[in-house]
Order: sequence, then structure tokens, then C-alpha cells
Amino acid sequence: MFHRDTVGRVEFAFTDREGGLSDGPWESLNLGTSNGDGPDVVERNLGRLGDEMGVDRLVRMTQVHGADVVWSRDVSPGDIPVADALLTDEPGVGVLVRVADCTPVVLVGLDEPVAGVVHCGREGLVGGVVLAAVAALREWGAESLAAWVGPRACGGCYELPEEMADAVGAAVPAARSTTSWGTPAVDIGAGVVAQLVELGIPTTDLGAHECTIEDERFFSYRRQGQDSGRFGAVAVIR
Ligand SMILES: [Zn+2]
Repeated sequence: MFHRDTVGRVEFAFTDREGGLSDGPWESLNLGTSNGDGPDVVERNLGRLGDEMGVDRLVRMTQVHGADVVWSRDVSPGDIPVADALLTDEPGVGVLVRVADCTPVVLVGLDEPVAGVVHCGREGLVGGVVLAAVAALREWGAESLAAWVGPRACGGCYELPEEMADAVGAAVPAARSTTSWGTPAVDIGAGVVAQLVELGIPTTDLGAHECTIEDERFFSYRRQGQDSGRFGAVAVIR
């Protein structure tokens, strides 16, 4: 486990590769189901994570780099909604985001029983998935939101064609970056933090000095390719 914390009534964790049952490129706590790893072993990994977090139910989503937000109470048991933000106001129900280079975000109501997880890559940053999640939580009535941002590809590694990097920078200036070898890049995590700060949300950037591409404690799509596993973040209300 990379980081685990309890704030108010919300317990949350960011995972790393440790503690699962998968082998090979998915070793060991792979939480992803569409990357070539065996479905049974992934379910056992998800079960382990759920048990460790003490959840009654672990709700996950099929992430599509969009900005759709779903509440756990609207997800029937066994269903996996298509969304990039998953919120909950149900005690005991864990919500899970899965990543390999994209930015995982946990949103917590400090004084309110509400929480959420968000998957944010290049498209999600420009499309405003974090803003959409915060808007939904505030509409619910949350007034004490705080955010934790997890490990992702860093701005010194995430190379993009100049046109794409510039487009991201035009939408979110803080996200425009340069690789350590001097080519156009984006820093999605810095962009997410900037969006959260602009919304007035106290933000802890746990991934500021981590990089999934450089650090083998994490799964990385850019480093490992198609077969990379997925780590994640989970939040549950007590
Ligand atoms: Zn890096």
C-alpha cells in the first residue's frame, strides 16, 4: 500500500504493486481487468483489497477518459458503470479508481459523510472530470471537501507531440511541461492540482515526487505497454 489514511469518516488508500496474486507484468496487485491478466486472479486481487479496506461492497467503473460522474447508490450490485468519477454517500461501500500513468484523485468530505475517486488523464483534464466530480459533490451539499492526488506519470517523462501538449496547456496552463530531455510534455498531476486549488479545495499531492514511468513500485502503461497492470485508489465511508 502506497498510502493509507482516515480523515473524518472517510478511509482511503492508494495502492502500489504489492500484496496481490498476479504474476508476470501484472505482479502482483493488478486491479485491471482488460490488460491480459486472468479474470479470476484479478477478482481475487480486488477481493483482497476490499477485505483489507473492510468494505461491504467494492464498486468500480469502466473508465473511458470522459467526464461522467456516477454515485455508488445508483450502481446495482455486480454492475460496472461507464464513468471516470465514482462518488459515494453510503457507509461501507468502497469506490475504486484504476490507473497506470493517469492521475488518481480521492475527494473527501472532511465534515460530511461523502467521498469520491476520479480517473484523470490528458482528456479528462481538458474535459474537466475533476471539476464535474467536485460539482456533483457540492450539489450533494458537501462544503468541506479536501483532495488527495496520487502517483502518475511525471511532467519530465510524459512526452507528447507539440500540438497535443500545447492544446493541453491552452486548456490548463499548469499542465504544460517539458521532458527531462527537452521535448514537449504534459504534467497532468500539476494540472489536476491547479484545478483543485482554483476550486478552493485543500489538496495534498502525494504523487508530487513519484513517477509511475520511472518507478517500478507502480504499474505504467508507458513503461510496460499493453500488458501493464493497474494500481488504484479506494475510498470508503465508515
Ligand atoms: Zn517521470
